[in-house]
Amino acid sequence: MRMIRNPVPWPDGATCAVAFTWDVDAESVLQIDHPETAHRRIFSLSAMRYGPEISVPRICDIFAEFGHKSTFYVPTWVAERYPAAMERMVGDGHEIGHHGYLHESPNLQSPEDEAYWFQRAHEGLEAITGQKIVGYRAPSFDVSPVTQSLLNDAGYLYDSSLMGDDVPYVMRENGRELIEIPATIIHDDWPHCSHNWDLGATNQISTPSRAKELYLSEFDAVCDDGGLWVGVWHPWISGRPARARMMIEMIEYMEKRAKCWFAPLKDIAAHIAKITADGSWTPNVHEMPYHAGKLAEWDKSTWRPAAGKVAATGD
Ligand SMILES: [Zn+2]
Repeated sequence: MRMIRNPVPWPDGATCAVAFTWDVDAESVLQIDHPETAHRRIFSLSAMRYGPEISVPRICDIFAEFGHKSTFYVPTWVAERYPAAMERMVGDGHEIGHHGYLHESPNLQSPEDEAYWFQRAHEGLEAITGQKIVGYRAPSFDVSPVTQSLLNDAGYLYDSSLMGDDVPYVMRENGRELIEIPATIIHDDWPHCSHNWDLGATNQISTPSRAKELYLSEFDAVCDDGGLWVGVWHPWISGRPARARMMIEMIEYMEKRAKCWFAPLKDIAAHIAKITADGSWTPNVHEMPYHAGKLAEWDKSTWRPAAGKVAATGD
């Protein structure tokens, strides 16, 4: 039985689009969680610096071996501090996406603060990469009610922070639209493999084979049906040797199992924009916001018992 109700006609007859995307957070998450003491938490700093310094070259080597391009979301503070990693990712032709300035959560900020950090991150990332930045993933997926308007104002092509469908969809807000390329927490390595008490991540660490089983079970369910598989991985977690080897095994399996299109998310979004414009495919549209504010139902005075359901007469 087909799982995808509106399968996407991917390029060249591919039956699935695949993107192993990476959130290159380095120590930004630690700095946000512990701004006063992060500099003293040297063990965690070392573990997270491993991402851009050790994992990014390894990941780029693997992608180069397969001839794949993907997307790396980089907080601009990280981009400023790791020029060698940036040169490698950009030099290899990968897309760099906006991921906040210091991994600040948009929905924990005022609209004014969110706009400030968004713009600072955007301008800095374009200056460092020389790329036009068109893709966004909110730090910790924490999209706020004003994030879409910032992305629309800045001319972004897509967001990839949300999980409202199996395939790309459109968010329409105040007459403006933005493509959403959804992932799922099942494809995120954080719940399966992260373990760091400074970050409050004390999950039992999954074996690479167990994580791979979860990732591929989702892929198997959609790979013949015009589906989408987007991994949300972190270099300091999944760039370690055994997990990087697992990614190689996954790519080899995917290439054999289905006709896959491996692409950065900006290319996937551009394809969605094209087939939507020419009428060959129709995305689902989400009218935003989902809720204008706190639900009126929380006001107890608004409720009355339903007529005819209150009293039983007994016979
Ligand atoms: Zn992140």
